[in-house]
Amino acid sequence: MLNSIDINKIREEFPVLNQEVNGFPLVYFDNAATSQKPTEVLEALNGYYRGYNSNVHRGAHTLAAKATDAFEATREKVRDFVGAAHTEEIIFTKGTTEAINLVAYSYGRAFIKEGDEIMISAMEHHSNIVPWQVLCEEKGAVLKIIPVSSEGELDYEAFENLLSEKTKFVAVVHVSNSLGTVNDVQRIIAAAKKVGAKVLLDGAQSSPHFNIDVQALDCDFYVFSGHKIYGPTGIGALYGKKEILEAMPPFLGGGEMIKEVTFAKTTYNELPYKFEAGTPNIGDTVALKNAIEFIERIGKDNIADHENSLLLYATEKMRAIPGIRLVGTAKNKVSVISFLMEGVHHFDLGMMLDARGIAIRTGHHCTQPLMNEFGIDGTARLSLAVYNTKEEIDTFVKALSNIANRFSKQKQKIS
Ligand SMILES: *Cc1c(COP(=O)(O)O)cnc(C)c1O
Repeated sequence: MLNSIDINKIREEFPVLNQEVNGFPLVYFDNAATSQKPTEVLEALNGYYRGYNSNVHRGAHTLAAKATDAFEATREKVRDFVGAAHTEEIIFTKGTTEAINLVAYSYGRAFIKEGDEIMISAMEHHSNIVPWQVLCEEKGAVLKIIPVSSEGELDYEAFENLLSEKTKFVAVVHVSNSLGTVNDVQRIIAAAKKVGAKVLLDGAQSSPHFNIDVQALDCDFYVFSGHKIYGPTGIGALYGKKEILEAMPPFLGGGEMIKEVTFAKTTYNELPYKFEAGTPNIGDTVALKNAIEFIERIGKDNIADHENSLLLYATEKMRAIPGIRLVGTAKNKVSVISFLMEGVHHFDLGMMLDARGIAIRTGHHCTQPLMNEFGIDGTARLSLAVYNTKEEIDTFVKALSNIANRFSKQKQKIS
């Protein structure tokens, strides 16, 4: 049984939500791009810079020890958040993009050879396409694409047919940022294991919405961004299985990642520091712990339940508006709704909604190949978070209906 959560109380923890935009109360529906931050995250940032700003892992003084403890406490929190077995399996990165690049660069350059195949899906974010393209070009490896259906679901049979002993790496998005589709990653991982391929999950959109257990999933890598789970920008994490990370060469060279440096030879530090060259993003890392604690306090099941009821409510209301076409109608979805309105370009739709204080995203959502598959240049997209309400959806649906009415009348006049 789920606890009921008090959304109004949760909203009070997000100062940014309490404002008017263009003369209307802000309705923030762009959470898949970045989520807002609760007071405790803002206070943690402030508290770090005001109270104990110091470099980590080096100084012998009290503030440095305090900063190091807070920094490492976040690593332990992230370990628990993704269900990893060992704390040193958590590498801090700037976010999802850097984490994928780290794996493509380090694992890819060490272990991918000419003629090897790397598989991604047709619904990947550009950050899970480009690093693999670069690698394939450099190594003479081949990029294979898992096709997507018109509903926005992966074609698992096609995937299984594409798999062979040539497949060395499978990198797929856990939840699509453009369509909201939840992919059956268990099936993908099980099939990939059979041919000995390593699997990376892009968790940028799964981490905010449901519980992650990398051990139960048995993925080799899982990556996510702090700013999409109510935390700061500029901090994210890579989870990797210890034995694989240990076999991988460093990504960047510099301070922190070394054991000993001479001009003749450098030996590298142990995990996770081997992959964390230079002074890290300490303040944002410290505050990421508070973002995870915020999620834990509300409970991921409660978050998922609330968002899911909003998703169903919004989907039903939007389907009733004439001229609206939903893009991505997978059976298993999170609270992301991509749509088009007949006769109105998504970009103009975004501007008209913004004039009513409603923030949505328009464009290709960094998934241009997916848009090409659908034969469109982009969509309008609303994406929901725990602080969104039914009333906000009513406001949005009313604004959308008004726009639809206006444009269908204009069309009648013209014809
Ligand atoms: C946002 C996002 C990314 C990129 O994350 P950054 O924080 O910009 O590095 C990658 N994949 C998906 C599915 C995303 O939603």
